[in-house]
Amino acid sequence: MSPNRNFIRGDWREPRSGEYDPVYDPADPTVVVGEFPRSNAEDVDEAVSAAHESAVDWAETPGPKRAEILRRFAGLLEQSTGELGEIVTREMGKPLTESVGEVERAAQEARFMAGECSRPFGHTYPSEVRDTRCKTVREPLGVVATISPWNFPVVTPVRKIAPALAYGNTVVFKPASQTSWSSIYLFELLERAGLPSGVANLVIGSGRVVGNEMVEDDRVRGVSFTGSTNVGVRINRAAADQLTRVQLELGGKNPALVLGFDDLERAAREIVSAALKCSGQRCTALSRVLVLDSQADELVERLLDEIGQIEVGPGLAETTTMGPLVDEDQFETVVRFVRTGKDSGAELRAGGEVLVDDPNTEGYFHEPTLFDHVARTSPLAREEIFGPVLPVVRVANVEQAISIANDTEYGLAASVFSDNPRTVEACTRQIDAGMIHINHGTASQAHVPFGGHKSSGHGAYSIGQTAREFYTIPKAIYTKW
Ligand code: NAP
Ligand code: MG
Repeated sequence: MSPNRNFIRGDWREPRSGEYDPVYDPADPTVVVGEFPRSNAEDVDEAVSAAHESAVDWAETPGPKRAEILRRFAGLLEQSTGELGEIVTREMGKPLTESVGEVERAAQEARFMAGECSRPFGHTYPSEVRDTRCKTVREPLGVVATISPWNFPVVTPVRKIAPALAYGNTVVFKPASQTSWSSIYLFELLERAGLPSGVANLVIGSGRVVGNEMVEDDRVRGVSFTGSTNVGVRINRAAADQLTRVQLELGGKNPALVLGFDDLERAAREIVSAALKCSGQRCTALSRVLVLDSQADELVERLLDEIGQIEVGPGLAETTTMGPLVDEDQFETVVRFVRTGKDSGAELRAGGEVLVDDPNTEGYFHEPTLFDHVARTSPLAREEIFGPVLPVVRVANVEQAISIANDTEYGLAASVFSDNPRTVEACTRQIDAGMIHINHGTASQAHVPFGGHKSSGHGAYSIGQTAREFYTIPKAIYTKW
């Protein structure tokens, strides 16, 4: 394999340290999928300088011209679904069909953003005085830093880079360490799409060094981050010192409320899919079920039927519907939560075991797991697990369900299954979450705003037009003649 490099000022460059770190296949950690740059502050400085020097020219490039590049990029993504999908699966483990779907989705989001380049912007205002006109325009911020996690290594970077470019900003990007390979592929596509040199720059390396340097560089005017709440809070603090704008998409503990819904088979199908795709490693994964006592027995049986159909295995195997966890850390976290569940007196109804003797040589495979009769105060019911573990909490009535739904630090997404419009209305109004899904799982669409309340997010929503609020800044203009 040719050495993997950073992409700075239009060149593929070795890191200044000359050092590289291995990434292992989560389905077979004896296999190294690649060696990736261990970049340092010098690499970040070069990348930010390149982005800074390109900022004026890119901002002045006509929107429709920027759109042409984004459209070509979207087209290249569409042609790369197989190849890029396989890279995603090899580095982070999810089933190939999910990886391919992710690349398709990234292409859709890039196309939406290409359209944004030609849509109207700004307002005109009536003037208080004669002979004067008042209007606002929105301008790019300049250089934005984008930092993403490993669970969606294609769509999350594209969700940041495409709007940044569409609205006329230049970019420095740091991928999660586990998924640097996908990001190299993305930058090859941006290069092939004809993006001028320096407009988007890739720096691979650790969050502690590369991520931190990006946030602290005072030429960076915005930071778009997706990842854990802990890291997001630290980034917010560092950015605040320089009044750098932030967009943070963070963790979740997303409830499915089942409150008088006739079609429990459908509810179970929606819930299990939204809970266990990507082995539960999705910020919007449904990660707890709150169900009325009267429906609980039947719902749990239906959930068990659905879980029983899951085939755990390597993501590249055709029969696999659930892959391994991404790495040892994530695997150990899941094992710890499952032990907590077993010790807590909750009723283990499915899974609960690791599927291999030695995960570090055989892969990070864990059974999909369901606990029933989980107490509302249990860590399983309140903390983000980010794995294939679904706790069921039984509730007496709608009010109790809503109160439990709100009883976490998070507020990203919620699903409500009910045939009663008053129940749906009460849940929609009273659940403190950024996204509410009625009678379906927590799947988002490629043009609808996406974001979280409470500790799940901060700053403007991403996806669709709300991205403008983050990536542009208003300017008011008064003209007298
Ligand atoms: P993470 O540990 O917070 O890492 C996310 C990114 O931040 C990685 O690129 C990481 O680099 C970098 N980073 C780490 N420390 C940093 C620092 N001090 N300064 C700047 N950057 C730093 O999250 P993760 O473990 O990759 O992903 C799982 C988490 O992401 C979950 O909590 C999940 O809920 C959340 N998530 C949220 C959304 C959403 O849209 N709301 C979507 C997906 C995931 P390294 O890889 O080098 O550590
Ligand atoms: Mg991490």
